[in-house]
Amino acid sequence: MELCDLSAFELAGLIRNREVSAVEALESALKRIEQVDGRSGSLEAGEITPEDEKKVHAFITRTEQIARAEAEVVDRKLAEGVIPGPLAGVPYTAKDIFNVRGTLSTAGSKILSNYEAPYTATPVARMQKAGAVILGKVNLDEFTHGSSSESSAYQPAPRNPWDPSTVPGGSSGGSTAAVAAGMGQLSLGTDTGGSIRQPSAFCGVVGLKPTYGRVSRYGLIAFGSSLDCPGPVARNVRDAAMMLNVIAGPDPSDSTAVTVPVPDYTAELEGGVKGMRIGLSPDFFKIQYFNHESGEMDEEPISAEIKQAVEQAADRLSEMGARIVENVPMPHTKYGIPTYFVISRVEVASNLHRFDGVKYGYRTPLAIEDLDEMYRRTRAEGFGAQPKLRILMGMYVSAAQYSAQYYQRALKVRSLIRGDFERAYDPDGEYRLDALLTPATPTPAFKFGDVYGDTVLMQYADQFTVTANHAGIPGLSMMGGLSKERLPLGIQLLGRDYDEAALLRIGRAFEVATQDAPWRKEKPQVLAGLA
Ligand code: GLN
Repeated sequence: MELCDLSAFELAGLIRNREVSAVEALESALKRIEQVDGRSGSLEAGEITPEDEKKVHAFITRTEQIARAEAEVVDRKLAEGVIPGPLAGVPYTAKDIFNVRGTLSTAGSKILSNYEAPYTATPVARMQKAGAVILGKVNLDEFTHGSSSESSAYQPAPRNPWDPSTVPGGSSGGSTAAVAAGMGQLSLGTDTGGSIRQPSAFCGVVGLKPTYGRVSRYGLIAFGSSLDCPGPVARNVRDAAMMLNVIAGPDPSDSTAVTVPVPDYTAELEGGVKGMRIGLSPDFFKIQYFNHESGEMDEEPISAEIKQAVEQAADRLSEMGARIVENVPMPHTKYGIPTYFVISRVEVASNLHRFDGVKYGYRTPLAIEDLDEMYRRTRAEGFGAQPKLRILMGMYVSAAQYSAQYYQRALKVRSLIRGDFERAYDPDGEYRLDALLTPATPTPAFKFGDVYGDTVLMQYADQFTVTANHAGIPGLSMMGGLSKERLPLGIQLLGRDYDEAALLRIGRAFEVATQDAPWRKEKPQVLAGLA
């Protein structure tokens, strides 16, 4: 086993005890990048070759020099007997939506292709302080708009390490592919409608969307400000808990970063699930979407293998002493995507206004006298199809004459969605849940090109994740099995406000219960035959 394949917990322990150095851990990760990643994403990728189709392409920018300097500091501190931070020497990556001082921070967009961040996002600064070592900035859907990572302006887009002919999910697909393939133990992702949990499910890693406000958004390039949550991507639940310990907490630079005390998420990890109430809802076992011709909601079944994985997870948890509460009604789940279509577009139209070619970022090279025309050309050339579509829709549904019909109505539905969770978790109510257990996604990873281009279908990959963003509650996604095609099947736990600890504890119990399952022993395809 290579150092890059250890968990963050194990690696940090070895480094702390000086059994291996931080530089050795870094070398191992760099070697893995050389072996499996192929060329990094770029704006001038040219043709995608058959060789490209076998590689992961997680990175946009590698930061080897910064990583070496950080690793050397950790080793020096250890040699001096200084206790370094809890993640000292652990290699990680950051989705390229986080500003990291002195690095390109592109958001996967041409419009930020020349943007070097002048400051560092709070979650990254906290990783640095904890001693983690940054390998680079990883690829994503442009401005995080997608569920496959294919929409990045930086090609080749990331591929799924379990089967590179399939997508890694998105928008944090670079993060989850990197963690799954051993390119860093941890990654910082963001989740607006499912962008941590959905790609984590596709890549067979653990992804946690914290409660809204639990982790600061300072230094994050914004998408939907009332929905965006930075959070951990990790190999296992303990590592996710360690990382949340580091990044969570109030931040004077972000007024929405809450001051609710941060517990030690690792402390009660092994507490087990005895007596915990875990719900199952029929509303999370079907895809429901609006049929434009009939005007009705149509229904389709989800992947039978994912359904089975969730049911088996419920059985395991029940054997470990949890009380499984069936038939919890979550009737507004079906409105999650349409509501998100309106709210996220309105917020993104507002947030993307700042990219105008004046203050920073790309500007059209054409010599244009008229200011408005310069804005227009810059945006026409700098934004890809998704941000353009979303800005247009956001402007439309928030326009004075349509706002009551769309945006204000969507806000009302959003509170109905929140109401479903409040009823399910109400300590004096009928269900009194500690968590809800659901599929993370309706299907396993899909093939490259199969969904891309169909904005509506792509969005439905988030049907089971998006309601947590509307409600502001935490959600954890993790592997619950493997499909016949050897693709990960993702399960999800949804929890109460600020109760990430319960989700981590349940997730950990499930890991313990399944540690000898045959699917736990399997490795992503791109790792086969590596020395
Ligand atoms: N896939 C969703 C979208 O396209 C969610 C993206 C996200 O969570 N950032 O908007």
